[in-house]
Amino acid sequence: MDRAKHILLNSKKYENDIKNWRHIIHRYPEIGFDLPRTQKLVTDVLRELGYTVQAGFAKSAVLGELDTGKPGKVIAIRADMDALSMKEESGVPFSSEIENAFHACGHDAHTAILLGVAKYLSENKDELPGGRIKLVFQPAEEGPAPGGAKLIMESGVLDDVDAMIGAHSQPLYKAGQIGCKYGDAFASGDFFEVRLKGTGTHAASPHKGNDIIITAMEIINALQNIRSRELPPLKSAVISVCSINAGSLPVKNVLSDECTFGGTFRAYNDEHRSYIARRIGEIVEHIASMNGVTAEYTDSFNYPYFRNDDDVIDIVFHSAQEVLGNDNVIKKEDPEMGSEDFAWYTKKLKAAFFFIGIRNEEKECIYSLHNPKFRIDEDAFVPALAVFINSIYRLMEDERIHGK
Ligand SMILES: [Zn+2]
Ligand SMILES: [Zn+2]
Repeated sequence: MDRAKHILLNSKKYENDIKNWRHIIHRYPEIGFDLPRTQKLVTDVLRELGYTVQAGFAKSAVLGELDTGKPGKVIAIRADMDALSMKEESGVPFSSEIENAFHACGHDAHTAILLGVAKYLSENKDELPGGRIKLVFQPAEEGPAPGGAKLIMESGVLDDVDAMIGAHSQPLYKAGQIGCKYGDAFASGDFFEVRLKGTGTHAASPHKGNDIIITAMEIINALQNIRSRELPPLKSAVISVCSINAGSLPVKNVLSDECTFGGTFRAYNDEHRSYIARRIGEIVEHIASMNGVTAEYTDSFNYPYFRNDDDVIDIVFHSAQEVLGNDNVIKKEDPEMGSEDFAWYTKKLKAAFFFIGIRNEEKECIYSLHNPKFRIDEDAFVPALAVFINSIYRLMEDERIHGK
């Protein structure tokens, strides 16, 4: 039997473990950097499997390291561990028992699959070509910005890594399918806030104060010109105002003295990213001053954009084809305008990110990420595990990945 087939068959042995770990993590979701329970589960499993474990760096990350005992490269895999602050309505029997916390982005599955990788590797260590494996369990992918990945990179624990991979659940692809995007993968994701202050007045006498809502409207309309008139039409970028607050709905005769609004901007180019931030600030300041209103503008650079490393994504793509067959591996056409804090790893390391299909219409696994009814078809776990394992073997062997 060829190696890829053997890996797929062997992966089946770990299916129940992955499901059990996932159900525990799903039942007790934890948010941001505050993940004591998940951290303990991961640490205990890794220690029991014989991994060298480091915990508590990057606030609450866990790193498990396995040495094959043979010389070779250092390959890292990342899983995110955090849930979202929202109520679960998925109806699964292992639903969240924590109020307002729900694994609606599949990070419980990512963590459980990576524990499956840990177990597979430790029990089949002799088959591995050589080198070391670093499994990284990351907090705060969903924020607070700039997320756990940045802190992990700053901690230096991955400085010796030669290639790195990560993956995310994708409800658009069926369980058993894998998606790979060559080149640009995720956009930068940054936030901004504007606070306008003027003189409130009676709604019947607008000339005695400032109609701050009109000023906000002028600014918000003008912001769209940055995208449509100032950036090249063939380059991707988006600016969205996501909230606006002024006055109070029941009050119909007062022009408010304050208006706040905020949103996000996304781009695929560091120059465009800085340009948008600067231009939002200038437009806010000039329109506000033209209307006699004061303005405060703040922005935060959270997640950079990233491209998948050409070599690493190619190795993952072919590894997935070997394991699952060509028909089950999708070459994704378009990059995402969403962002992903895996970006921080790609800044310094040869790294790539792929997608794990989790869709199954019969099992009602059809809802988007972050939807209260989000569900995962667990038949996705064995194929995902096998793709990780075959990719690790391939990354260890491929000459395009150089040892440090
Ligand atoms: Zn998410
Ligand atoms: Zn996510």
